[in-house]
Amino acid sequence: MKFKSTRGSEELLFSAQAISQGIAKDGGLFVPIEIPQVDLSEIALLEKMSYAERAEYILKFFLTDYTAQELQYCTSQAYSQDNFSEPIAPVVSLEENLSVLELWHGKTSAFKDMALQILPYLLTVALKKETSAKKLLILVATSGDTGKAALEGFKDVAGTEIIVFYPVDGVSDIQKLQMTTQAGENVHVFAVKGNFDDAQTGVKEIFANQNMAESIEKLGYQFSSANSINWGRLVPQIVYYFSAYIDLVKQKSIKLGEQVNFCVPTGNFGNILAGYYAKLMGLPVHKFICASNLNNVLTDFINTGEYNRNREFYKTNSPSMDILISSNLERFLHQITGDSSLVAKYMQELSQKGYYKIAGQTLEKIKEVMQAYCFDEAQTEKAIADVYATKKYLLDTHTAVAYLAAEKYQQETADKTHTVVLSTASAFKFSQDVLKALKQDITGLDSFQQNDLLEKLTAQPTPARIKYLKTAKVLHEQIIDKQEMLAAIKAVL
Ligand SMILES: *Cc1c(COP(=O)(O)O)cnc(C)c1O
Repeated sequence: MKFKSTRGSEELLFSAQAISQGIAKDGGLFVPIEIPQVDLSEIALLEKMSYAERAEYILKFFLTDYTAQELQYCTSQAYSQDNFSEPIAPVVSLEENLSVLELWHGKTSAFKDMALQILPYLLTVALKKETSAKKLLILVATSGDTGKAALEGFKDVAGTEIIVFYPVDGVSDIQKLQMTTQAGENVHVFAVKGNFDDAQTGVKEIFANQNMAESIEKLGYQFSSANSINWGRLVPQIVYYFSAYIDLVKQKSIKLGEQVNFCVPTGNFGNILAGYYAKLMGLPVHKFICASNLNNVLTDFINTGEYNRNREFYKTNSPSMDILISSNLERFLHQITGDSSLVAKYMQELSQKGYYKIAGQTLEKIKEVMQAYCFDEAQTEKAIADVYATKKYLLDTHTAVAYLAAEKYQQETADKTHTVVLSTASAFKFSQDVLKALKQDITGLDSFQQNDLLEKLTAQPTPARIKYLKTAKVLHEQIIDKQEMLAAIKAVL
C-alpha cells in the first residue's frame, strides 16, 4: 500500500516513509492511494481477539511494508497492561439505542493515548527500515491532550527528541501540570502566547521551512510530527471503531452486519476521519455525527459548505475542541472529491483569505454520511448534570458535547440506528467544569481538592496518574511568543 499527498505532488511513499516524514513536501497530508476492504467474516474474527490483536489485524491492511512480526511488536508493546487498564476501549450501554465508547483508559486519561502509545513504535521501526542514521525531532502543537500523550509515548525513546508547544491559557490546570512536570532526557515543553491555532500554524510553517529542514539535517535530525496530520497518528484510531462494533455485536446490542452511528466530539477532525476510513473499509456505519462546541466552524461547514475561520475564537470548557482550523478536513475533502488540485486550491484560499466554499454536489456527498451540531457551555453543563442524575454516568465536558449531539440527532431524525458516542476524556481531567455542572461550590479549591470532591461525590476514583501530579516537580516553565518557536527549537538542539 502506498501513500500520496492530498495536494497532488508526484511523491508516492510506503507507510514507513509517510509516517517518518509526517507531512508531504507540498504541504499536503498523506493519504492511502486506495482503501483496503474488510468483509463481515473478517470483522467477525475480531470478536475473540484482545485489543492489541485487533490493532494488529486492522493495521496490517494499511502498513503493508511492516512485517507481521514488526506489527505484532508495535501493537503488543503499545496496548499493554503497563500503558492501559483493562478493558482498553470498553463500550458502555447508556440507553437502548445509545452506547459510549470509553477511550480514556490510557496513561493520560484522554483518547490521544490510543494512537500516541503506538506511534513511537511505528516511527522507530520505520526509521530502522529506512536504515536512516538520523534522529527524529518530533514537533507537537497541542490543545492540551496530545502534548501529554505524546510526551508519555516518546519520553526516553532512543533516537528521538520531542518538543511540545501548548497555548499558555488554553489548557486546563491538570493538562498544564501533566505537561510541565514531564520527566525524560529528550522532552521539551513550551507555553506559547496565543491559541492552539497559532501553535499549530507555527509548527506547520516550521515543517514547510526548507532552510530549517536543511539546518537540522546538518545536525543529524529529521522533522516528524506527532499531531494527527501524521498518518501514523490516524491509522491506529481506525482500530477502535472496529473494536467497538464487534463489542456491540458481542454484547448483543446489534447483529453482525447491522449499521451503527458514531457521534464524535471533534476538533482537528482526526478522530471522526478515522471512523470514516473504517466505514470506507466496510464497517457498517450509517452516519457520523460531528459534535462541536462554540467554535462551530465545522458545524457551519457541514451545513452550508462554507469553511470560514474568520470568526471569534472562544475559550470553552471543552478546550481540546477549541480549534478553528481542522487539519484533517483536508483528507476528508480529498477522499470525497478525489481531486487534489481542488483540495490544494481550497487550502490555499484558507491560508490566504481564511475561507473557502465547496461545490453543492460535494456538500451533498458529505451530508450523506455526516451531520453536525454545536452546543454552548451552559448546554454542556446541563448535559453532565442530567446524565449523572438520571444514569449515574459521569461525562467529561467533551463527551457531554457529543452526547448532546447524539441526543439531538436522534430527536431530529427519529433514526433508531444504534448510536455510539465516543468518550474522549476522563471527567477527572476537567473536574473544575464537571463540578460546576454538578452545582458544587468549588471556591478556594485547587485542582486536586476538586478531584477529591468529585471522587467523594461520585464514588469513582481519580486516575492514579492524575493524583500523582500533586507531588510531581514542575520542570518546564518557559513561556514564549509565537514568533519565538523557531528560536526555541534551535536552542534545544
Ligand atoms: C483531541 C481531543 C478531541 C478532538 O479530537 P480531534 O481528533 O482533534 O477531532 C476531543 N476531545 C478530547 C478530550 C481531545 O483530547
